[in-house]
Amino acid sequence: MEFALNEEQRMFLNMFRDFAVKEIAPRAEDMDHEETLPPDMLQKAANQGFLGATLPETYFGAELDGVSYAMLIETLAGASMSVAVTIAAHVSLVAMSILEHGTEAHKEEWLMPMAAGEVLGGFALTEPDAGSDVMALQTRATLEGEEVVLDGVKTWVTNGGIAGLFLVFARGPEGVEAFLVPRDTPGLTVGYREPTLGLRSATFHTVYLEGCRVKLANRLGEAGGGSVVAQRAMDRMAVALAAAGLGVAADAVEVAAQFATERVQFGVPIAQKQAIQNYVAESFIEIEALRYLVYRTAWLIDQGGDASADVAVAKAFSARVARTVTNRMVQVMGGYGYMEDYPMARKYRDARTLGIVGGPTELQFVRVAQRIFAGRDVEIVP
Ligand SMILES: Cc1cc2nc3c(=O)[nH]c(=O)nc-3n(C[C@H](O)[C@H](O)[C@H](O)COP(=O)(O)OP(=O)(O)OC[C@H]3O[C@@H](n4cnc5c(N)ncnc54)[C@H](O)[C@@H]3O)c2cc1C
Repeated sequence: MEFALNEEQRMFLNMFRDFAVKEIAPRAEDMDHEETLPPDMLQKAANQGFLGATLPETYFGAELDGVSYAMLIETLAGASMSVAVTIAAHVSLVAMSILEHGTEAHKEEWLMPMAAGEVLGGFALTEPDAGSDVMALQTRATLEGEEVVLDGVKTWVTNGGIAGLFLVFARGPEGVEAFLVPRDTPGLTVGYREPTLGLRSATFHTVYLEGCRVKLANRLGEAGGGSVVAQRAMDRMAVALAAAGLGVAADAVEVAAQFATERVQFGVPIAQKQAIQNYVAESFIEIEALRYLVYRTAWLIDQGGDASADVAVAKAFSARVARTVTNRMVQVMGGYGYMEDYPMARKYRDARTLGIVGGPTELQFVRVAQRIFAGRDVEIVP
């Protein structure tokens, strides 16, 4: 068993930190208040190889291993969870789905532009009546010769405002199917941008499909194989989101600890008060436990095989740690933690999403319970 990062991983980590500190952190507050993610920042991220982070070099990818990719998302999330989620949705949900399930033609057409940041990906699975129960989706895929016509409504599509390519899930004659739908396809309309509690620099849109016609060749994976495409993508995304939770929690402690050394009350820095030390120490312990869980899960995914329960453990624990830690760090900073001119309020709002996005915690518990009760003659269903 090896716990240390190798030399390459350490080098990557330094590079990620450099980018987060220089390019994101100074702009994160303004971006959040203005609810924008500047295109030049994404382009710089692409130039660093982040938008093709886990793609092979053949497609201009950076070919990061799972642990390095987790560290990338963790580090970006420390500076801005919006940036981390935007990039993770693009890489983990869309680009990697094309790599894993796409034909050579799909890969040739999309992966290089995606790695270069010319085309961003959006994942359109959730619908008004299909949330946790994703397979209840009602969007229809009607076969017409060599074409497919898509009709339905998709909600809360991350990157909806900026994506050039959507991975759309619909019910076809043989079950759930996944289709690559370029943004400019007639019949696809990007609608309402959802205002959100946190992640305000990322965009979440409704996407309407009305008589949206694509070639059958745009289907990703087998006929009726969409649920496999969706599940694999959501597993990858769950690890990335767990890494984002680690990043936001760890940075919250850094910020609050610094504040506690500078804020003087009753004649001493509040860091000298045991209540404050306990908040920070307890948080640090949880973060360290989460760190090894996230890296181990990322490593497990790299090994192949079914890691769905492990993924669920990491996602659920990360959601809890990120929420609890950012909540405590707001407390450490007192009124300054609550004011929007300081970064803690943003971190607290951003962290809250982790118990919902990418599959809510309650559903992660179901997957863990399925593993625990496996072979005990009890059927565990959501
Ligand atoms: C910020 C954000 C970004 C998102 N981005 C995308 C995206 O890019 N693409 C996409 O397709 N979707 C996206 N989603 C949708 C997201 O994946 C869903 O919100 C999530 O799957 C849960 O669905 P729901 O919100 O409809 O909740 P519901 O399914 O309605 O659940 C409501 C509550 O009931 C609980 N519940 C439901 N079923 C059970 C059960 N069987 N047992 C116990 N409890 C249960 C849930 O855990 C939750 O607490 C995004 C959501 C958010 C918040």
